[in-house]
Amino acid sequence: MCHISPTSKETIDEGLSVFFVFGVITSAFITHAGAMASRSAVLSLAEAGISPQVGAPPADVLDPSFAPSERDGLLVIDVQTDFMPGGALEVPGGTEVIPIVNALVRRFEHVVLSQDWHPPKHSSFASQHEGKSPYDETQMPYGAQTLWPDHCVQNTPGSAFHADLAIPARARICRKGFRSAIDSYSAFFENDRVTGTGLQAHFQELGVTTVYVVGVAYDFCVRFSCEDAAARCGATAVLVKDATRAVGLPGSVEAAAKGLEQAGVRIVNAAELRS
Ligand SMILES: [Zn+2]
Repeated sequence: MCHISPTSKETIDEGLSVFFVFGVITSAFITHAGAMASRSAVLSLAEAGISPQVGAPPADVLDPSFAPSERDGLLVIDVQTDFMPGGALEVPGGTEVIPIVNALVRRFEHVVLSQDWHPPKHSSFASQHEGKSPYDETQMPYGAQTLWPDHCVQNTPGSAFHADLAIPARARICRKGFRSAIDSYSAFFENDRVTGTGLQAHFQELGVTTVYVVGVAYDFCVRFSCEDAAARCGATAVLVKDATRAVGLPGSVEAAAKGLEQAGVRIVNAAELRS
């Protein structure tokens, strides 16, 4: 979907080699990237050590005519236990999105679940900044960064996908925020706005040109994923508004609405989706 492609190679925490996306794409790259798909940062369920799950019954909300094509992808942002009510970084109403997400998951062939995946003592945690509290702001080398309660620490129960989320065997997992010094809101680019996650190349290899985005939180990870899809990757980005909920820090919802509009993100409710 994008017109930019990998030129640099980097090793991530689990020893996988991944290619990140910068520069001008060539057909040779597409072939090469396809051959490397099993080593992409976008993992199969087996590579991520995650089992498929049926999840809660899907909401009966979608129009029967809505039939996504092979050029449509579904991006489910961070439906993880720590972001759900009662979790370490609770998004109010977070579980309400799940039946709608599950209905959408059934319709799409291309499904990617992003997973916030922090090492212990991650730099986005307020606990790592003396004198700071959760939801304070600080300056990182890459710019302003909101500080959060400790959340989504790798391989802890809080980092797991919610038990009610449908996870089909064909789903892929895009982990983000696993570098200690950089947070990642967007599922495409980390907060330094340079480091790619591999998701751009993944959708590109599949020929996906429209990305439907759901999940949490509207005002952070959903917002920046939508903006990157539309403004940096050249895709059509569609935010399914009744399938997202906000953290709701002071001004964050208003800022998200403005950013989404400026990036040209289409916003609809699930029942309005048509092919
Ligand atoms: Zn996080």
